[in-house]
Amino acid sequence: MLGPVILAASRSDRMRRLISAAPVTKQVVDRFIPGETVDGILPIVRQLTDNGLELTMDVVGEDITTPEQAEAARDAYLELIDRLKPLELGERAEMSVKLSMFGQALPGGHELALANVRPVVEAAAEIGTTVTLDAEDHTTLDSMFAIHEELRKDFPQTGCVIQAYLFRTEEDARRLAAAGSRVRLVKGAYKEPAEVAYQQKHEIDKAYVRILRTLMEGEGYPMIGSHDPRLIAIAQELARTAGRKLDEYEFQMLYGIRGEEHLRLAAEGHRMRVYTAYGTDWYGYFMRRLAEKPANLRFFARSMITKG
Ligand SMILES: Cc1cc2nc3c(=O)[nH]c(=O)nc-3n(C[C@H](O)[C@H](O)[C@H](O)COP(=O)(O)OP(=O)(O)OC[C@H]3O[C@@H](n4cnc5c(N)ncnc54)[C@H](O)[C@@H]3O)c2cc1C
Repeated sequence: MLGPVILAASRSDRMRRLISAAPVTKQVVDRFIPGETVDGILPIVRQLTDNGLELTMDVVGEDITTPEQAEAARDAYLELIDRLKPLELGERAEMSVKLSMFGQALPGGHELALANVRPVVEAAAEIGTTVTLDAEDHTTLDSMFAIHEELRKDFPQTGCVIQAYLFRTEEDARRLAAAGSRVRLVKGAYKEPAEVAYQQKHEIDKAYVRILRTLMEGEGYPMIGSHDPRLIAIAQELARTAGRKLDEYEFQMLYGIRGEEHLRLAAEGHRMRVYTAYGTDWYGYFMRRLAEKPANLRFFARSMITKG
């Protein structure tokens, strides 16, 4: 019941001001967003890769309101890629981007987002890695898939995300399960209406399995974005049945969630990629993490009361 309320708050400017200014918030935020600057995040990159993990890196931010902010987002990723270069991690450190941060919702936003994201994809390719386009709310997806298709003409390794809770996704998965494509499957983190998305957890989980089967049986490279132990076991089984080797799919989880499971899967020989977010505009990302697990909200509320 709390999830939709928190997701609604994640889009409220008033709540953003209140929560961002609360003195205790930062300590709780650090669990999910372990740095504010490139300098702050590089030690985490080293720590994760030293532990046999891979990364997909997200400079937090979304729903910007001016073209200058979109350019600043592009430049933040270019700076990150520049700083990753000497580490020579190649595809062990890839980038995740939200097109809304690149101007997608502004007038002329589709072209603007494409123009801003292209140099990031080019720079990533130059250091031997790639970019995955995150999936945001359902109204943005036609544009996201069109940008994905456009980028793949020059950079076929560019990935995208599909969300199991949306009715449209089974068809999207069939289209995307083609040779050379990289697709991350997640349950979905936004507040979506019943006209376009399953609302019940068991329906979403069942859809996840159907879509994952399509990806595993297809010719692309599936990226399983979930912390759900049942789905992880099913994914392993589906990969085995489809005859996939350990390097023909990967698991992905968020930094700060089930860290011991990251290490367990990596120790079993799986490719395990940790979605690592950093930056100062963390509000939307943080609120979605609270909405996914009520215990996070209770912990957050308790620390506000104790410290406040
Ligand atoms: C790598 C990655 C990338 C993602 N990218 C996108 C994207 O582009 N677009 C999008 O809409 N969504 C994205 N998501 C979020 C996703 O849609 C889900 O909201 C999120 O993963 C929770 O679903 P779950 O599959 O982990 O299953 P759940 O059933 O929600 O969780 C399973 C278990 O994982 C643990 N867990 C899950 N979430 C939390 C949390 N926040 N805090 C503490 N424990 C938790 C709990 O132990 C829980 O019981 C991404 C998720 C991952 C892992």
